[in-house]
Amino acid sequence: MLNGYQFRLNPTKEQAQTLLRWIGCQRGIYNAKVSEDRYFRTFRNRALALTGVPIPTDQAYSHYITDQTAYFREVPSVILRNGAALFGQAYQRYFKGLGGRPAKKNHRSRQSVWLTSELFRFEPVAHRETGEIVEYKLFAGTKKFPVGELACKAHRLFNLPASIHISIRAGKWHVAFSAEDSTVPVFKEETIITELQRMNDDELHVVTIGADRGVAKPLMTSNGQAYDLSDIQKERIQQKRKRKVRWQRRAAKRQKGSKNQRKAYRKTARYQQYEANVRNDFAHQTSHQLVAHTDAKLIVLEDLKIKNMTKRPKPKQDANGTWLRNGVAAKAGLTRAILGSAWGQVADYTQYKALRAGKLLIKVAPQYSSQTCAKCGHVDAGNRPSQAEFLCLRCGHEDNADHNAARVIKQRGIIKIREYAPKGKKRQNCTSPN
Ligand SMILES: [Zn+2]
Repeated sequence: MLNGYQFRLNPTKEQAQTLLRWIGCQRGIYNAKVSEDRYFRTFRNRALALTGVPIPTDQAYSHYITDQTAYFREVPSVILRNGAALFGQAYQRYFKGLGGRPAKKNHRSRQSVWLTSELFRFEPVAHRETGEIVEYKLFAGTKKFPVGELACKAHRLFNLPASIHISIRAGKWHVAFSAEDSTVPVFKEETIITELQRMNDDELHVVTIGADRGVAKPLMTSNGQAYDLSDIQKERIQQKRKRKVRWQRRAAKRQKGSKNQRKAYRKTARYQQYEANVRNDFAHQTSHQLVAHTDAKLIVLEDLKIKNMTKRPKPKQDANGTWLRNGVAAKAGLTRAILGSAWGQVADYTQYKALRAGKLLIKVAPQYSSQTCAKCGHVDAGNRPSQAEFLCLRCGHEDNADHNAARVIKQRGIIKIREYAPKGKKRQNCTSPN
């Protein structure tokens, strides 16, 4: 299967400068393609009947290299070609409905450059005694534009990729790529589902685990296991948030576009990155624990529409055009908590890790899971006397609210597996025509 890899890079100052130039030029071509596309869509599209010339969809870029854009000549042409190719790929994604129409990138977008095999090579380094390959060295550049060896911590072994992305984020360089990893088995979803469906109810109950994603506790399973950041991590996140805000204020006061302002913004980025790293790490550890350290074969989560839940509320106006409160400030805290709990990442990581381990993650409808009694199924808002407690008004079942929800989610997962019918095949009815 394809596996994603990312390693830290430590380029020298000169190398970093070259890479930044490459990033800038590739983005320049990409943006030029976007502008050109916009131009043709607004003018030529309407005049197509008159001129008979269709909108160009090729990946030509040489017409952008003029005397005004001589800087394009200072980078390998493959860098430019790849910029045009990236635009083409973005358009393909758009046509497939996987993304928006390609838009211009700026200095706030992801700073990365796509290198194809002409521009880099990995060289294996063998162990002196055993002759085993222990690491890889990364070289970049061409004869005309050499970069040399990029110091890289390639701490895992991999099959060699056809292309790589080099990026800089909060002052740190990374190389990322995907490569075939033949050591990892991948199970088919259908096979696992069939296996699960063959089990009786008791067996299925044993191998299923439900997990509730919450704001107070990021994750609680039906086994009663809670997953959360450590106290130190939480404390540090608070600290870094404060510092981030402080440096944001400082940056705002400094002269626009000055070196000092840029320095201040770099600091805010670094403080922000810390939190993102901790959350990402939490998501990886939690998903690993769920998959590797439970007996569960079926993991059930709620199908939360995280994008909608964290969307900025639309501005509201009354009939006279006066702006009304739209709750944006009130929602901001919740949004931060949701994104901070890494709900999306936990689900994504669990999904692929489960498939590698012959397990399955499914998502079920989230409606009223927090108000439903796990014991008798009674649904009532009054079942929740407080945020943390659950007390059923019908049967008196008492539980921690998150744990109760996790059990409800688990039950829904079992029902979903029972009802699941493979695509294209209709589930057989009890009464057969013969
Ligand atoms: Zn009940």
